[in-house]
Amino acid sequence: MAIRDCICGRTNKISLGFKEGIEIVRCQSCNTIFPVTYTYNEQFYRDEYSQQYQIQRETPTYSDRIDHDISVAECRFKSLQGVIEPTKSLDIGSGTGGFVKVALKANYDAYGIELMPFAVEDRIINDSFLTYEFEPNSFGLITMFDVLEHFDNPFIIIRKILSILQSGGILVIEQPNPMSEEAINKGILWKHIKPQEHNYLISDIMLTIIFKYLRLPLIKQFEPIKGRMCLVYQNDRLRNSYTSI
Ligand SMILES: [Zn+2]
Repeated sequence: MAIRDCICGRTNKISLGFKEGIEIVRCQSCNTIFPVTYTYNEQFYRDEYSQQYQIQRETPTYSDRIDHDISVAECRFKSLQGVIEPTKSLDIGSGTGGFVKVALKANYDAYGIELMPFAVEDRIINDSFLTYEFEPNSFGLITMFDVLEHFDNPFIIIRKILSILQSGGILVIEQPNPMSEEAINKGILWKHIKPQEHNYLISDIMLTIIFKYLRLPLIKQFEPIKGRMCLVYQNDRLRNSYTSI
């Protein structure tokens, strides 16, 4: 397996140490944290991850979990008030569908896509975002909560998002913040360093540079919970041409 550089293209990085036998580094240019080797394994998410997920959460039944997920989704929704409005929406990696349910209630034409098999709701597509064929320019809102860091190549996801997000549409990304006090102080012991699951934990600075280049300027940024970041981008493009990345 190749030892990679940061997604920003720079090679200067410092080692944070090893976790699960894999070296973890922090890019000194953009502060992204990543394992030097990573393999995205879709099957892991289709079966093993869903079982681990249930055990970790200690909420084994679907109904328990959906209650919890709905309350998290309600908080997320509330904090996005004023920047999103009812439209056709897609939650990528929608899990048990909490955000989709809350969005439907708020009159969004809401959909989700999720690999894990418990995604059985009729508004949730149980498939891979990477390969599922959506109508071009069909969503006014796309959300990703704890998703981008799981993929091998974030640019493939971003390219696909650009192909389905309408002009003027909103993209919301929420994830652990690699520049948070906890991430900096704990280093290799930071709980979000999981080399089997998390690839690039991209910094807010780097994400905003990427999206600005793609003509999706940042319109809002906040810390929904200590140590996390929520970034809201708006598609400024008149027309979606996404072959330049
Ligand atoms: Zn970097």
